[in-house]
Amino acid sequence: MTETTHATTDRETGATDATDAHTCRVCGRAFPESHLLVLHRGVRHPNRLTETERDEYREAYRTEEREIRSFRLRALAVLVVLYFGFLFLYVGFAG
Ligand SMILES: [Zn+2]
Repeated sequence: MTETTHATTDRETGATDATDAHTCRVCGRAFPESHLLVLHRGVRHPNRLTETERDEYREAYRTEEREIRSFRLRALAVLVVLYFGFLFLYVGFAG
């Protein structure tokens, strides 16, 4: 008996009524948000997309890409601040 920690759940492992609204029509996998379903369809079932779904996938992909780029920049900024913060602390205490 395993408990999933992913944001998505399989239908067999107990999808709720709230997630049934975002269920893949090909594989039956349920998603908590509609944009996750759009991304899933584009990645897992690209040959079964209609033209409208393909456009939705492209837009969702671009949005996801912008969010990931933003996260990477913020993570880099935090690392730089930590690096120089500890460097200056070291210089202050050891120097
Ligand atoms: Zn699917």
